[in-house]
Amino acid sequence: MADKKIVITIDGWSSCGKSTLAKQLAKRLQYTYIDSGAMYRAITLYFLRNNINWQDVASVKAALEDIDIDFRVNETTGLGEIYLNDENVEYLIRDLVVAEKVSEVAAIKQVRESAVAQQRKMGAAKGIVMDGRDIGTVVFPDAELKIFMTADNAVRVERRFKELYAKNPNITIEEVKNNLEMRDYIDSHREVSPLKQAEDAIVLDNTHITPDEQFKMALAWVKERTAA
Ligand code: C5P
Repeated sequence: MADKKIVITIDGWSSCGKSTLAKQLAKRLQYTYIDSGAMYRAITLYFLRNNINWQDVASVKAALEDIDIDFRVNETTGLGEIYLNDENVEYLIRDLVVAEKVSEVAAIKQVRESAVAQQRKMGAAKGIVMDGRDIGTVVFPDAELKIFMTADNAVRVERRFKELYAKNPNITIEEVKNNLEMRDYIDSHREVSPLKQAEDAIVLDNTHITPDEQFKMALAWVKERTAA
């Protein structure tokens, strides 16, 4: 009998390597990977482009009506990429301009309700790995495997800096550090669905372990939960 399909949630601080692990697991298990942060980033991009005043609830509600988000597989990489109203924005949403505002936008109740409803639909058939901030606590509180990732601040800043610098050599390490600290603060202090560890989550601190080591650990946890 085939192993049963489960829901795997990966939450944690910014730039802990959540998406690296989520993609590895999805590939190996032939599960769908959903980057929930990309959804908040795409909504933020739409708000910025269309000068939406997100302090105003009516404007937010109206704008959300005009936003259509979906993930489509890139045939070359085999990975899902995010589309905002039929436009591939997978790369645009990683820009610091979006990162500067995304946590403010993600703290808005109506934005979260809309994103969470869509995330739950995506996970209804199980066989999914979703990473974010509130996936194990709010989106899928009954998930079979919940991982909460963390790593030392300096290590996280360094990792994100390298990633962003490759695309934009004008970026400074201070900008990256300030952005991570600001997002972590807002994400963990907001009223709606703050970032926090689910009580039944396994904590994975990857400061001193390689992506390969953490992948092996996570696969063992999956095995424990899918064994008949
Ligand atoms: O995961 P990533 O760093 O791309 O997420 C960008 C931002 O989106 C986070 O800093 C957070 O403000 C928001 N987010 C969230 N809930 C999630 C995923 C992301 O509030 N489930």
